[in-house]
Amino acid sequence: MAEIVTCKSCGEPFEVVEVGGGMTSPEPEPMTCPHCGHRTMRLAQGRLRTRPVESPAKEDKN
Ligand SMILES: [Zn+2]
Repeated sequence: MAEIVTCKSCGEPFEVVEVGGGMTSPEPEPMTCPHCGHRTMRLAQGRLRTRPVESPAKEDKN
């Protein structure tokens, strides 16, 4: 199940997919930003695979 998160370091969005696991309780897993390499820990039941996504069209805020 993919999830789009925004890097807290560079602000770029990337996709996170949990792979494997599923039978264990959630544990902190490293999640590395594919844009800048910033690493954060995140609770997951498997390894976290990340890949960059294109920046969504930014909404114009009037
Ligand atoms: Zn980043």
